[in-house]
Amino acid sequence: MPLFKVKTPEPKGPTRYLKAATLIDGTGKKPVQDPVLELEGRRVKRIGTKQGIRIPPRAEVVDCAGLTLMPGMIDAHLHTMMFNCLTFHNYRVAQWEITPELQQMYGLFHAQLCFDMGFTTLRDLGLNSSRGLLTAELCAVRDAINAGIVEGPRMLIGGFTVITGSHLDLINPRAMQRFGFQTADGPWELRKLARTNLLAGCDIVKTCATGGGGTDKEEPDIRNMTQEEINAIVDEAHAFHKVAAVHCFTPQGQRMALEAGADTIEHMVFSDDRTTDRIVESKVWMTPTLLHRTDRAIQARKDQGTSQFVLNKMKQIQPYCYRTFEKMHRAGVNIAMGTDMGYDPQMGANARELEVYVDLGMKPMEAILTATRNAARALKLDREVGTIEAGKLADIIAVAGDPLKNIRCLQEKKNIQIVMKEGRIYADRRAGRNRNVVNVKPGEWKIVDYL
Ligand SMILES: [Zn+2]
Repeated sequence: MPLFKVKTPEPKGPTRYLKAATLIDGTGKKPVQDPVLELEGRRVKRIGTKQGIRIPPRAEVVDCAGLTLMPGMIDAHLHTMMFNCLTFHNYRVAQWEITPELQQMYGLFHAQLCFDMGFTTLRDLGLNSSRGLLTAELCAVRDAINAGIVEGPRMLIGGFTVITGSHLDLINPRAMQRFGFQTADGPWELRKLARTNLLAGCDIVKTCATGGGGTDKEEPDIRNMTQEEINAIVDEAHAFHKVAAVHCFTPQGQRMALEAGADTIEHMVFSDDRTTDRIVESKVWMTPTLLHRTDRAIQARKDQGTSQFVLNKMKQIQPYCYRTFEKMHRAGVNIAMGTDMGYDPQMGANARELEVYVDLGMKPMEAILTATRNAARALKLDREVGTIEAGKLADIIAVAGDPLKNIRCLQEKKNIQIVMKEGRIYADRRAGRNRNVVNVKPGEWKIVDYL
């Protein structure tokens, strides 16, 4: 921890009131009926009900009559610059035949699509491609949003720090272009790669302890690095007060990540009881990323021309992913929502991940917590966001429908009626209003490689 922290007082800003039918505050407490929130500048100042808080005459009121307020959602694992299947027809072109400069524009576009759907915070876990890591490009998108020159969600950027021949490098067919990957081997080289990513401005160091989507049938079991290497990466992240995120498909990888002191572990395809117990004990955060394991995602990838090898692999690991999720949930593993969106071509559909959790046994409230309080805790942002509480930043969405009765109501844009980040409304789809972050609709944009 830093030895001291100087906190500059922030300007108070105007006082406003937010009224709605219901409040789900993201703490897990029972919903509040007829809530009234007093906002001051970027923050929530006071929370009460219409009986308890008297709104002064002529005060500015955001009236969300009939709507449910809840914290802006957080996707703790996605890749805004991975593919562009919304704007390209062909997966291979989208992945490999695009310049970093154009890719960066799509990264912003993808982040805005998620933002428009109520995701006010995204953790982008970066990428390693033949175009390089794009850590600096991702950081620039984050910084442009933070500077207020473009609209978008709060972003945390992961710098990809992996060995040569790590899982994504191995994607078949082998005839594919292999140059341009930025990898490192051995603890000191990996420390240098982590530091280079940190120099570029990343918030998180991301690494991979095991194989993954690119490795074939037996190979999720391959170890991706030595214990000494993973220890070096996690240590480097912590030395800079950053979070270390570790991709693990197997119990061996999970144990290596725990041993290294990882802050979040990603995917969890396979599991064993002994390791699951250790995960529970450690209280480490797990992001399940089940959305891109669904049949729908596999079909979408197929339609975009994904290689049969990858499709087979996705189908093959699907039941393991579901079973591991059920088991880890039952065992009491700390779960934060992450979609791995970016592989799945439907950017903005992040809330479908919650439906998968509910289908696999989570109560809707628990599922909502994974995308609010839990995700904020996993990202160490919980002092500022993740719940609607006095003193926290006003990241709030207003939803038509009751997500506790029907978790799917979070999936439709028309239901996400207000998206507020730090007290400012970016999307407003209440009756008579039509403010969006993204104003082009699917079908209106060009499918670039169709020409
Ligand atoms: Zn990922």
